[in-house]
Amino acid sequence: MTVAPSHKKAKALNPSSRRPAKALCSECGLCDTYYIHYVKEACAFLHQQIAELEADIHDRSRNLDNPDEWYFGVSQSMMAARKTEPLPGAQWTGIVSTIAIEMLTRGMVEGVVCVQNTDDDRFQPKPVLARTPEEILAAKVNKPTLSPNLSVLEEIEQSGMKRLLVIGVGCQIQALRAVEKQLGLEKLYVLGTPCVDNVTRAGLQKFLDTTSRSPSTVVHYEFMQDFRVHFKHEDGSSETVPFFGLKTNQLKDVFAPSCMSCFDYVNSLADLVVGYMGAPFGWQWIVVRNDRGQEMLDLVQDQIETQPVMSQGDRHSAVQQSIPAYDKGVTLPMWAAKLMGVVIEKIGPKGLEYARFSIDSHFTRNYLYVKRHYPEKLEAHVPEYAKRIVAQYKLPE
Ligand code: FAD
Ligand code: SF4
Repeated sequence: MTVAPSHKKAKALNPSSRRPAKALCSECGLCDTYYIHYVKEACAFLHQQIAELEADIHDRSRNLDNPDEWYFGVSQSMMAARKTEPLPGAQWTGIVSTIAIEMLTRGMVEGVVCVQNTDDDRFQPKPVLARTPEEILAAKVNKPTLSPNLSVLEEIEQSGMKRLLVIGVGCQIQALRAVEKQLGLEKLYVLGTPCVDNVTRAGLQKFLDTTSRSPSTVVHYEFMQDFRVHFKHEDGSSETVPFFGLKTNQLKDVFAPSCMSCFDYVNSLADLVVGYMGAPFGWQWIVVRNDRGQEMLDLVQDQIETQPVMSQGDRHSAVQQSIPAYDKGVTLPMWAAKLMGVVIEKIGPKGLEYARFSIDSHFTRNYLYVKRHYPEKLEAHVPEYAKRIVAQYKLPE
């Protein structure tokens, strides 16, 4: 017999109601459930508590005397990895989907929270509680849109599941960790991805329309380590656009306000993080944060090849120059953008230094955004590690 957890409940909001975090809501899904009762403490945009949650989950918060931990959080190890046989149609080589399938088929968990797409729109997210490998596979590839993954939390309790894997991005995982003890689970594993610059479905359309040569046929895209956006189209063809050629002036408002005020790019509270930005081009980047993360990674050791992480170059001047350029919405002509892309790819930051470049660029931009739009939130909302990262640069007023 399953004993129902004795947590408090409140009435979930209906989809059109204003969320407690107002414009900053990232639609993480918590408020679509009765766990909205905990929203004031749990919402990543109402109550930033990364250090406290790190101490709960990883037994310590990040060491502020170690600049690597400012950037990458608490970790036991990091590496570059790729599947020896990549999973067709996955975002990268499919390490995330493969780990999830192994965990389910070996009985480590009874279900997996992941996000599929709706039948008529490949980019419209549909969070699910997957119970079969097929349902996990159907969730492969990024839905580059805000996704209410936590909207399935009530279903978890009703299902009586006790061992669960949740796949998600930082804001979803912060809220999940804050209500974890209320979920009545015996074991929770969290497989995170880094996340940045997410958009609403309408915002995604604007990005595709202003950036791709054929917006309606894009099946997949990624901002890659070679300083280009890579689009893959339905017919298998690919298209690249240099970062420096993006129409910054038109795209400035496209990113969700939640993502413009997020300082958890690297998913600090996941057990295992799988991204790409700290790895050489074509490889994925793995951060093992704790023993549960190592347990998950061990399941796929015979399906991946790995190499140590490397770091090359110095990001500081490129970041400093990009701050006023972004602020003023400067867009280079395409020939200059391409040239700059080629030069920076040759001499620019690589490996972990590329990851630091991306974190610095986004944290400085986001710090300015919060300072200008939510000055009253700045002090409490920006974690100490992010303040130290931003303090390395001179910012405009
Ligand atoms: P797959 O096996 O294809 O599985 C992808 C998984 O992602 C699925 O399980 C699915 O449930 C989940 N997912 C898809 N969309 C969402 C969503 N909107 N919210 C929550 N979960 C979702 N990595 C970096 O290193 N740097 C970045 O800047 C970066 N930005 C990202 C931005 C977004 C919006 C997302 C969703 C991911 C981002 N990543 C980033 C992670 C990276 O793109 C890959 O998702 C990751 O490396 C896993 O690849 P894979 O082939 O193993 O995943
Ligand atoms: Fe609710 Fe999540 Fe939005 Fe915060 S981000 S208001 S918890 S749905």
